[in-house]
Amino acid sequence: MSEIAAETIRMVDLATQYKRLQPSIDKAMQKVLDETSFISGPIVKEFSANLATHINAKQVIPCANGTDALQIALMALDLKAGDEVITSAFTFIATAEVIVLLGLKPIFVDVNADDFNINLAAIEKAITPKTKVLLPVHLFGQCSDMEAILALAKKHNLYVVEDTAQAIGAEYTFSNGDKKSAGTMGNIGTTSFFPSKNLGCFGDGGALMTNDETLGKKAMQIANHGSKVRYYHDVIGINSRLDSLQAAVLNEKLKHLSDFSARRNKAAKFYDENLKGIAGLQTPFRSKNSTHVFHQYTMQITNGKRDELKNFLDKKGIPAMVYYPLPLHKQEVFKAMKDLSLPVTEKLAETVLSLPMHTELSENQLNYICTTIKEFFN
Ligand SMILES: *Cc1c(COP(=O)(O)O)cnc(C)c1O
Repeated sequence: MSEIAAETIRMVDLATQYKRLQPSIDKAMQKVLDETSFISGPIVKEFSANLATHINAKQVIPCANGTDALQIALMALDLKAGDEVITSAFTFIATAEVIVLLGLKPIFVDVNADDFNINLAAIEKAITPKTKVLLPVHLFGQCSDMEAILALAKKHNLYVVEDTAQAIGAEYTFSNGDKKSAGTMGNIGTTSFFPSKNLGCFGDGGALMTNDETLGKKAMQIANHGSKVRYYHDVIGINSRLDSLQAAVLNEKLKHLSDFSARRNKAAKFYDENLKGIAGLQTPFRSKNSTHVFHQYTMQITNGKRDELKNFLDKKGIPAMVYYPLPLHKQEVFKAMKDLSLPVTEKLAETVLSLPMHTELSENQLNYICTTIKEFFN
C-alpha cells in the first residue's frame, strides 16, 4: 500500500482533478475555441456574474491575476504617495509588492499565534495619521477577524481591502448572525485563480469583488486602460484581463467550488483526527467565526524538528512545504525594516509545515501520510 500511495502523493493534484472534470471543462474550452472570442468573450461576463452570485457580491471584476487585483484595488482608492497600508508580514510577497509599486508605504504587523491572521492589537498600535488602508489576508483559507477589523476601520476612517487569494468561498459569521463571504466584507476584495488556488484556472487569472458600485466601476475602468468608452481614457489604468479560456475553465470549476471545499475539509478532518495528541505537533486552529476552506493544512512543529520532519517525509515520498520560510520584514527587498521585531510571525516561519492538501486526496494516501508522521514522532 505504502509504495503505491507514496508515488502518487502531490502537494496539489491538479492532474487528477482535471481528469475527473475533463468532459465538461474541455467542452467549455472548445466552445471558446469555436467562437474564437479569446478576449472579453461572453463567458467572462457569465463567469463574473456566477461568481458574484456564489459569494453574494454586487460586482465581480475579472482581471489577469491576484497581484493585479490587489494593485487595481489600491489604485481605485483615493490614495496619495506615502499613505500607509497596514498588512500582515506573514503572507505572500504579492500583498506588499503592489503597495510599494504604487508609492504607498507597507506597514507590517504581527499575526495571531493560532489562526495566523493579522493581529488586531498590532493593527491598532500601528495606526498613524498617514494610515489609509487595512489590508488583511485571509491566510490558508480562514477569514481574519473581520468584525473587529471593520470596527477599527470605521473608527479611524480607513479603507479595508481583503486579500482573499487563499480563501475564496470561506464564510464569516458576525456576532449578529449575519454571514458574509470572504472578500465581500471590506470596501473591496481581491482573489487569485492561479492553478493551485482553491478555484484555479489553467493559467493566470484573478478578480476583485465589491458591494460598492462606484468603487467597482472604478476598478473595472482601471483594469481596462482607464477606459469606460473604448478609446476614451479618463484615468491612468493598466491592462489586466481574464481571458475567455480561463473564464470557461473557472465557470465550470465554480460549479464544484463547494464540493472542493468539502473535500478539503474531509482531508483536514482526517489529518486532525489522526494527528491529534502528538507531542510537538499542533494541528490547525479552527476559528469560531469563520469556516475554513483549507487552501493549506498548516501544522506547527513545536519541538524544533520541523526541517527534520520535512526531510523525513520527503524521503518517504510525501511532499510538505513551508509557507512562508522568511517573513516579509526579513526579506532582502525590505532590508530597511530588518530591525522590526514581529515575534509571532518570526516564530511561525520556523515552526509551520503544510501537508498535501487538495481535492483528490484518497483515504489510502491520507493514512500513509499520518502513519509516516507518527513514525517520525515515535
Ligand atoms: C497567490 C496569492 C496572491 C497573488 O496571486 P497571483 O494570481 O499569483 O498574482 C496574492 N496574495 C496571496 C495571499 C496569495 O496567496
